[in-house]
Amino acid sequence: NPLNLIRNFSIIAHIDHGKSTLADRLIQRTGGLTDREMTHGQMLDNMEIEQERGITIKAQTVRLKWKAADGQTYTLNLMDTPGHVDFAYEVSRSLAACEGALLVVDAAQGVEAQTLANVYQSIEYDHEIVPVINKIDLPAAEPEKVRHEIEDIIGLDASDAVLASAKSGIGIDEILQAIVDKVPAPKGDASAPLKAMLVDSWYDPYLGVVVLVRVMEGVLKKGQQIKFMQAGTTHLVDRVGCMTPKIEQLNDLGPGEIGFITAQIKEISEARVGDTITDAKRPAAAALPGFKEVQPVVFCGLFPTDAAEFEKLRDSLYKLRLNDASFSFEMETSAALGFGFRCGFLGLLHLEIIQERLTREYDLDLITTAPSVVYKMHLSHSKNEEAKTIELHNPADMPDPNRIESIEEPWIEATIYTPDEYLGGILKLCQDRRGIQKELTYVGGRAQLKYELPLNEVVFDFYDRLKSISKGYASFDYAQVGHREGDLVKMSILVNEEPVDALSMIVHRGTAEARGRGMCERLKDLIPRHLFKIPIQAAIGGKVIARETISAMRKDVTAKCYGGDATRKRKLLDKQKKGKAKMREYGSVSIPQEAFIAALRMG
Ligand code: GDP
Ligand code: MG
Repeated sequence: NPLNLIRNFSIIAHIDHGKSTLADRLIQRTGGLTDREMTHGQMLDNMEIEQERGITIKAQTVRLKWKAADGQTYTLNLMDTPGHVDFAYEVSRSLAACEGALLVVDAAQGVEAQTLANVYQSIEYDHEIVPVINKIDLPAAEPEKVRHEIEDIIGLDASDAVLASAKSGIGIDEILQAIVDKVPAPKGDASAPLKAMLVDSWYDPYLGVVVLVRVMEGVLKKGQQIKFMQAGTTHLVDRVGCMTPKIEQLNDLGPGEIGFITAQIKEISEARVGDTITDAKRPAAAALPGFKEVQPVVFCGLFPTDAAEFEKLRDSLYKLRLNDASFSFEMETSAALGFGFRCGFLGLLHLEIIQERLTREYDLDLITTAPSVVYKMHLSHSKNEEAKTIELHNPADMPDPNRIESIEEPWIEATIYTPDEYLGGILKLCQDRRGIQKELTYVGGRAQLKYELPLNEVVFDFYDRLKSISKGYASFDYAQVGHREGDLVKMSILVNEEPVDALSMIVHRGTAEARGRGMCERLKDLIPRHLFKIPIQAAIGGKVIARETISAMRKDVTAKCYGGDATRKRKLLDKQKKGKAKMREYGSVSIPQEAFIAALRMG
């Protein structure tokens, strides 16, 4: 393929602005699939959850053929990128594999937080950006207003933005022509040593580990011995191909081309996104820049509701990990919940997706413990140990408080867009969550807020709260800005005098009391009455900071004794105590499963 006939582009958009629908339309228009093969909408989103939630988790790439106005047939490689901040690194690798991007903006919604975040990333990669104003078929569409927003807020010339409706098929040819006209052709020397970027990898039950690559220089061939420069491993290429979106086998991929290879790789953890692939015998002098190992930032415990399902949970986690190297897990035991796993995620959405897949695809009933971020704990020396810094993923592993010199927690910078009328509520939410306001500006009739917030305060229900305060209109995006010292303490929850490890959490001292009170109040409603009185307490160290009591459901049996027979009265009370003892044997109080999650929601 001559380089001048190749165009590599991705589609960037805020969630729900129509990226997947447009991708389908482009595939359909260029004949990659017959109408009959487009059976279910959204060809690129092949996981069930993706379809239902309308989000794209794994980047996918399709090779399209398009005969442009000049009569030449172009190869257009469309990379679908994940639209959510949790997958920012995958987005960034996909963008690095392209020369241009279609910027899709909803004609009724206008520019949103993720539109901006994605566009800035795209600009960082020197992309040529082709603006598309989508959903012009909607009665509420205001394409001219949105055109001005793109110019005012993003600073992009939108005078020739394509007006489109991915749904009704309006503007599709214009979009394809604009890609050919505006996106630059890739560059690269076919005779140089091989240098290809590992854009993505996934596990396919038939093909094994499939690796998506973008060749920068040299040629990647079937039968070639290749080397992953970061991982240091070598592999024999046994398949080269591309997706149209059907799998098509090829002999090689040259500079500027995007396609996939298989190379008898056992686990996707060996094929890390961002690695550089080179020829084992004639390696490139240097790897491509910017490789980053992604690390989980949010952790929580997952426990089977039914202890007998532990093995099934483990098998399911292994299967999920086959396709998601960024997700981690290790065994954990909890006094309250038994055997389970401590799992690490890239963010909250990632957590929810995994949780949902386990429930839905693997039919598991799960208890999820409080999500926790990664704390850095600086410990002083003890009798047996030197002073050291540890990373804490689980509040249950909190070291001896006497040894803690200081604790650092991760912070983020959040960008929030909101219509004016919800601004007050959102400012209050950010303040309540220890936010530091950095910026408040007005763009296109909406407020743009920048806040620094401790990630700890965001992982619980910040996003839900933001959506409910703004009736769904505010949009949110964030980037991590490093660890900072904070006055943090471990808060334990005691039910019937016993700490419930699954409910313990690390909180800021200043908000501990309010948080503790809220937890106790909610647990009081969530735990059913028992035959005995149940105190619910929140405590820091040995000190109780909040308390509620669930009164006993006791039948007033002693009343029948007419106050007379003291021995009989005692006997009855003893009998009840035994009943209570038996309950305790089974783990004292039965806490309903939903209480673990519901208790964490803040008012
Ligand atoms: P994504 O999150 O950006 O991938 O968005 P989707 O492609 O999943 O689209 C989100 C929703 O908008 C879906 O319900 C689509 O059917 C709808 N949608 C997409 N494009 C259009 C359009 O041009 N017009 C209308 N009316 N709806 C659209
Ligand atoms: Mg989508």
